[in-house]
Order: sequence, then C-alpha cells, then structure tokens
Amino acid sequence: MSNTTFTATVLGFPRVGPNRELKRATESYWAGRTNAQALHAVAKELRTAQLTAALDAGLDSVPVGTFSYYDQVLDTAVLLGALPQRVSGIADELDRYFAAARGNAEVAPLEMTKWFDTNYHYLVPELAADTAFALHPEKPLAELQEALALGVPARPVVVGPVTFLKLAKSVDGSDLLDRLPDLIPLYERLLGLLAEAGAEWVQLDEPSLVTDLTEAELAAVRGTYRRLSEVTVRPAILVAAYFGRLGVALPALAETGIDGIAVDLVAGGDADVAAARSITDKLIVAGVIDGHNIWRADPDHALPRLTELRDAGVAVAVSSSCSLLHVPYGLAPETDLDQRLRGWLAFGDEKLAEIRVLATALTEGESAVADQLEIARTAVADRGADPRLRVDSVRERLDDLDAAATRRAPADERRVLQQERLNLPLLPTTTIGSYPQTGRIRVARAEFRRGEIDRAEYDTRMRAEIAEVIALQEEIGLDVLVHGEPERNDMVQYFAEQLDGFAATVNGWVQSYGTRCVRPPIVYGDVARPAVMTVEWITYAQSLTAKPVKGMLTGPVTILAWSFIRDDQPLADTARQIALAIRDETVDLEAAGIGVVQVDEPALRELLPLRRADQAAYLDWAVEAFRLATAGVADATQIHTHLCYSEFGEVIGAIHGLDADVTSIEAARSHMEVLDDLNAIGFDLGVGPGVYDIHSPRVPGAEEVRKSLELALKAVPAERLWVNPDCGLKTRSTAEVTASLRNLVAAAQALR
Ligand code: GLN
Ligand code: ZN
Repeated sequence: MSNTTFTATVLGFPRVGPNRELKRATESYWAGRTNAQALHAVAKELRTAQLTAALDAGLDSVPVGTFSYYDQVLDTAVLLGALPQRVSGIADELDRYFAAARGNAEVAPLEMTKWFDTNYHYLVPELAADTAFALHPEKPLAELQEALALGVPARPVVVGPVTFLKLAKSVDGSDLLDRLPDLIPLYERLLGLLAEAGAEWVQLDEPSLVTDLTEAELAAVRGTYRRLSEVTVRPAILVAAYFGRLGVALPALAETGIDGIAVDLVAGGDADVAAARSITDKLIVAGVIDGHNIWRADPDHALPRLTELRDAGVAVAVSSSCSLLHVPYGLAPETDLDQRLRGWLAFGDEKLAEIRVLATALTEGESAVADQLEIARTAVADRGADPRLRVDSVRERLDDLDAAATRRAPADERRVLQQERLNLPLLPTTTIGSYPQTGRIRVARAEFRRGEIDRAEYDTRMRAEIAEVIALQEEIGLDVLVHGEPERNDMVQYFAEQLDGFAATVNGWVQSYGTRCVRPPIVYGDVARPAVMTVEWITYAQSLTAKPVKGMLTGPVTILAWSFIRDDQPLADTARQIALAIRDETVDLEAAGIGVVQVDEPALRELLPLRRADQAAYLDWAVEAFRLATAGVADATQIHTHLCYSEFGEVIGAIHGLDADVTSIEAARSHMEVLDDLNAIGFDLGVGPGVYDIHSPRVPGAEEVRKSLELALKAVPAERLWVNPDCGLKTRSTAEVTASLRNLVAAAQALR
C-alpha cells in the first residue's frame, strides 16, 4: 500500500454554490451581461470556500476537480480531447464547452441523460472507432495547484476510463470498450503529471462498476487498473464506485495494484463489507454516510461496519457513499423547517461533521467524541419515536385494501362506457397539461412570495390564466382540454406541499443539469391527503367549457423519484401511501363531475434499479402503486397517463401493466418506433405518440403532423389513437404553441 493514507474524506462536492451563485454567474455570462473573467472569478471563490470548509471540517484528504462549469462527464471529454467534431470550429474554449453542453444557433448539443439512479443529468460523449483522443490536463492541474496553494491535502478526481467509455454513445456502432487501449496511455500520462504537480492521491470514479458487467467488461477493468498501477511515478490510486454494490467488481479491483477502493456501503450494503474484509493491502474508503439522501446517519449502524473492517486488519477511511453533489449545501438556511424534523437531517455541511466524528471514533475510540455520538443517537431515536412516522389510519387503510382496489373492468368495456360519456371524435386531440409560463404568471408568483399580493388576488390572477388557456383551446378546436397548470411551479413540489408526511426546504437546491437546480421535497412520515388539492382549479376550468377538461395529477412513482425518500421503510411502502393520497384526489375529481383524469408518471423509468436482477420487483410495485392511484374511479371515467422519455425498452411491459385508458408518450423524436414495441407486447389501450416535439422551438407543419399520424396509424387502429404533443408546453412561447396546435388539430381533422 502507498505510504500516505487518510482517515476522513468525501467523494466530491456540490458546485452551484450555497446560494446558486454559479448558476447566476453562468447565466449572466450566457446572456452576455458579464465576461468570462467574471465567471471564472465566481467559480474560484466558490472552490476556495469549499476547500476551506473541508479543511475546517477536518478532512485529511479532499477531492478537487469535482467543480464543473456544467458537467463532470463533459469535463472528462474535454480532458481526453473527445468533444464532437461539430464544435471544434469554435475558437473560444469556454464557448466551445458551452456549445457542446447546450448547443447554439449552428450546432446541436450533446444528448443528456440521467446519472445512474440520481436526478443529475450528464452529457453523453459521442465517440467512434476513429475518435482521436488527446490529453488536455489543464483543468485538473489548475485545480490541483489552486488547492495545494491553500494547504489542502488535495486528491484530484477524474472520471475513470471504463465508466467514461460505458457512458459514451457509440456513433458508429463500434464497441467503445475497444478504445481502452487508446485511452489508457492518456490516463498514464495524466497520473504522471498529477504526481509531478504534488498529488499524493488521485480518485478515478468508476460508478459503472456497480452495474451488471459482462466477463469481457470485468476483464477490461482488471486490465485497465493493472496497467495504471504499473505507472512508476504516480499518485496513489483510489478507484471510487458508488450507487450500489460492487459485487464481483470488488475482487476484480482487489487483484490489481491500485491503492484504495471507495465502496458505497449505504447502497451496497453488507455483501461488500464482507468482501472488503479480506482486502488488507489497500485503503478501503468506506462510504457509510449517505451522499444521496439527507438523513443523519445512525452511528450504531455505521460504526460496527467500520470497526468490523478495521478489526479484520483493513485500513479504513470514513467517507460519503458518493459525491455530495446530490444533497443541498447545508441546513443553516432551513430555519423554517419543523424543528423536530430538522434534528434528523444532515445536508452537505452536516455530513462533513458526521464523517469527522466517525473517523475520530474509529481512530481514537468512541469516548473521544462521546458528546457528538450522543447527539446523533438521540436524534435517531427521536426520529424513530415520532408518531408522524406511523399513522395508524394510513396503515389500516392500506392493510384493508384487497385486489379489487387495483382492478378495473376490462379495457374494451371501459372504452365503450367512456365513449358514451365523452362522445369524442376519432383521433381526439389533447395536450399534456401545462401551457406557457407567461410573464404574468411569474410576476404574480413573485409578488405573492414577497407578500405584495394576498392569496385571493393570486388566485384571481391564476383563474384569469386558466380562462385564457381554456379560450385558446376552444378556439384552436382541441377535444380534451386542460387547465394549463399555472398554479404549479413544480409538478412534485405542488403536491408535496399539500400532503401530510412531506416537508419542503427554502434553500435545499440540488443540481439537476447545467445551471438547472431543483429543490426536492422530503418525505419523512406517513403520507395522507388532508384536503382536496386540485379540485377547485379543475372544476373552475370545466365550468368555462362544454368540452371535457382533464384533471391533472402527478403519479406516486414520480413524486417519490423527485423527492428525498424515507430510508426507514421500503420504497414500495411509501409508494403505496402516496398512491392512496392520489387515489383520494381522483375520486374527488370524479365526484366533482370531471370525466377525464391524467396521472403523470414521467419518472417511471428513472427509478428502475441499476441491476437487472432488481428490476422486476421494482416494476411490480411501481405498476401496483399507479393502479392503486387510478383504480378508484368508475369505469366510465377515463384515466390518462403521460410518460416522457424515449427509451422504453425495459419498461414497455410495465406501461401495459399501468392499464391507463390513454397513454401519451414521447415519439416525436424517436419516430414512432415505440408503437411497434407496444404492439409486440399486445398493448390494446389508447395511445398518444407525441407528434409535436416541444423540446424544440420549431413549429411542425400540418403536413408533417399528418405524416406522423399516418405512420402511427400503420401500427395503431384509429379507435385507439390520440393526437397530442410529446410533453407539457410550459417552456414554449404562446405564439409557437398556438401555431403548432393549430397544425396538429388541422392534421387530425384532415385524417378523420
Ligand atoms: N403535466 C405535466 C406538464 O404538462 C407533465 C410534465 C412532464 O411530463 N414532466 O407539464
Ligand atoms: Zn413529459
């Protein structure tokens, strides 16, 4: 083992700034209001503050280079000279970088996709058999030097070669792992440069190792890290894998000459602890503090695992399970939180302190930190004892449900009843829910937040928006209308604010992608719906038109996926509770005369477990939760759902299982292939493949929409085909939306 070692660290830091300073600085650079120098200055200040905080917290090895202007995978593509050809003509380095990230008038951006099972999205590098790699180590070297100058025991962090290739998209269909031999020399050179610059450790992130690996991939892992560990002048190598159990990849790494392995003992669990016990020639960086969730750790859970490893003769450091990128900066601004709940939480700053305490307990004995351990134990016990975590009425209702609660009449019987009630034309037209977020809506929201207008005035303004959206849809000639969702700033937060068992933060921002941040609500207790949530808005909209207006709800899986979840009970149990609350709302909407209710599940695929062996069980409970949420209404009430992503592969069967009368899906960009996939599994319900790509400002012509529909009609009989855009319209302008929807309606009418 390397002669340098450490005891307390994290795997990475958030970077948008405690008050989203980087977001503001970047957006003002994009808007041309400030120059690059100003942006770099803000970035440097944020990094310096972060490094200082890490030193103050007592970390004895500190990750550097997890800062990014947009995304760490894009940074790795830059490091390896692997940006796509189409941006190479942009002379300015920063502008080239941002063009790859978000496109510009001339070039399309890289695709974006989810980073493992988090809500962070990375940019997908585009590689081919002939991509020429070249090392551009300026960023890691500069950030290393900056940290060393501050006296920080800096550990540069770079995405490892296996994960980089596994996450990239092969634009020519070639097997990208074949490119490892071309990448390894670049990493070898990088190791040398980092050592020369004074790095004692380097962290190579390989989260792909927690997914199912083929024999060939495992061999590639072994080969890669054998080679890298043979570099003569290099820092000690820490390979970090997170978001799950390493399984067979752990012994594979252990066989190589690397110096440390970071294991995620929160998501990975006891199997990896057992396997790590025999790794006595490397530092095991034990991720016992959850980097992916916001609960304070139970020392009586973490410490036994740490001591078990130490007592087996393993050198152990205490760490977060993954980068702190996925949690908010700190609890300090959260003064409005329920005081009791606040005591159970640990955001980024608090996690640093927890790591220090555990590391001290491990090296000096528990008595050295007896007070802090006592506080932690008291908080954990307090959480366990809070009656809001076990609400009998919620649990009894769930226990009393039988199979009938998730079952409706057969789909074709429902279709007849619904058609009698709704009397829709062939190829009915509709939209997905939201309409453009107008300047008026934003102003009203801001004035309400600042207390300049009261609730009644705010509601009046929202009603005016609804009336306008209804009038617009009538005028365009759509068949099933929506109220436009002006009252919702976020489709999960809006419901979380109204449900028992949820809490919202004021400043708990987490990066979603680039400068976009979200503030996930926290599910802490049993979930119930104390009062109706949407009925007034929807019935108001319905009162303005003779056409049916869809009630609009967010589904249980999506609410879970975009929240910080309970870690004290199975996800499936929380899903069922949320489902029951949504079910109550569907029943109340129906009782108020609403004949169509849409329950959105855009995140159904996001929660899919990383390992294939875990996926079937997930899909079972996810489908069951959706059905529980939607099967409480009469057969004549039409249930819609909306799923928005293009790769349906593993979830196609589940889409059928949802048993929604109508499913709208993204297809505008994937050319209707999804319809063939649905046919292949005998899908026999209503389907609305998106025929208007709302991610683009382009207005589709009526002829183009008609062609898409003709294509769709080859796969789906007209009786089951719906006509709609591929997602909500909230990011588009009213002018674009109006023109596009007119063409959409014209195309449907022409075909009828
Ligand atoms: N009903 C939502 C909307 O139209 C759905 C959003 C989504 O799919 N993410 O905005
Ligand atoms: Zn969508």
